[in-house]
Amino acid sequence: MIAFDFEYFKPETVDETIHTYRQLQLQRKRSIYIAGGTEFISRARLGQVHADAVIDLKGIPECNVLEVQGGQAVIGSAIRLTQLEEAGLFPLLGTHSRKIADHTSRNRITLGGNIAGETVYRELVLPLLISDCEVIVAKKSGLEATSIHDIFNQHLLLQDGEFIVQFRVSVADTTLPFISVKKTAFSSFDYPLVSIAAIRKEERTLIALGGVCGYPFRSREIEESLNNQSLSIPDRIHNAIGHLPAPMLDDFRALRDYREFVLKHALNEVLHTLEGGPEI
Ligand SMILES: Cc1cc2nc3c(=O)[nH]c(=O)nc-3n(C[C@H](O)[C@H](O)[C@H](O)COP(=O)(O)OP(=O)(O)OC[C@H]3O[C@@H](n4cnc5c(N)ncnc54)[C@H](O)[C@@H]3O)c2cc1C
Repeated sequence: MIAFDFEYFKPETVDETIHTYRQLQLQRKRSIYIAGGTEFISRARLGQVHADAVIDLKGIPECNVLEVQGGQAVIGSAIRLTQLEEAGLFPLLGTHSRKIADHTSRNRITLGGNIAGETVYRELVLPLLISDCEVIVAKKSGLEATSIHDIFNQHLLLQDGEFIVQFRVSVADTTLPFISVKKTAFSSFDYPLVSIAAIRKEERTLIALGGVCGYPFRSREIEESLNNQSLSIPDRIHNAIGHLPAPMLDDFRALRDYREFVLKHALNEVLHTLEGGPEI
């Protein structure tokens, strides 16, 4: 049960959404955007979040787009994970998505919700980071296109009242060879010990990692190390792990040493799959 009352709004345009948020703010009401609503409901039940109003983004047509437009795969932020998988528009994103939660939950969870959510995993940002996608953000001043690298650093960098409308990925990048790896400790639908999305582009492996540190990331130094063809694969992996941007997670799912062991195996799988050759 949610132990507080809140108003519910489901605007039908981006302008109406921003206006609704602004009006509630003027009335000194705390409002929160929702899409799938799964995280909001669980956190509200646990008393971890409070809102006077929720604004549902699912009624906005632009947030529900899932199609190719002018050489870009356009994916609305309110698209549910099962839709991503079924549409096949961006196979790496769909494959990575299929590894999150059970089918019933994936039928509610949205792409925007996964990336904006409070968990440290936010696994679906990984395919977006390696495809250098463009993000359409709704601001007071209107819609603005920005690079994923400018709007996501450990978490989304949105100002008060802003929300994500769409992600736009070059169609050429959606067709590149890819691998999606997720290693869990307990069941296959658990949060990851290691989550990796990688593509092969212009004879380089581009890679983003989650579950390893306290946030998902893509690191230039790690990519340089993994692509250093003058070294053996074990040495490249050893060097890459030396460039982790933060301490490795050490929690009830896995101690640091075990997580590092799993990461090494996962990176080995990635390099051998994308570069060819047997795994060692
Ligand atoms: C059973 C289960 C298993 C899970 N397993 C995993 C897993 O393995 N890996 C993983 O990464 N995650 C996992 N999650 C977490 C899940 O991806 C997040 O909780 C996600 O936030 C839920 O999406 P939602 O659309 O329901 O979010 P909502 O509850 O609608 O919103 C969550 C947050 O995101 C914000 N938000 C939503 N949409 C937007 C937008 N367009 N722009 C800006 N802010 C927005 C909301 O304001 C809110 O703060 C799991 C969740 C469940 C329930």
